[in-house]
Amino acid sequence: MIKIFICPKCGWMREVSRRKEVECFKCGEKQMVPVKLTYEKYAYMTPQERADYAESWQYIHRGDKQS
Ligand SMILES: [Zn+2]
Repeated sequence: MIKIFICPKCGWMREVSRRKEVECFKCGEKQMVPVKLTYEKYAYMTPQERADYAESWQYIHRGDKQS
């Protein structure tokens, strides 16, 4: 089963199958985060929709990392 992961640092998204540790190839973040998005949905999204999704995801989760 393919899952969609997002990089909490730069918002880059990728699809991953059967891996627990997923690194970001854009910024080098070691652990990307799975998002609640099915591969089917992701596959049909336009690049603009993906960018919007990543942006709002980052906005929502920004508070998590502030310490
Ligand atoms: Zn990244």
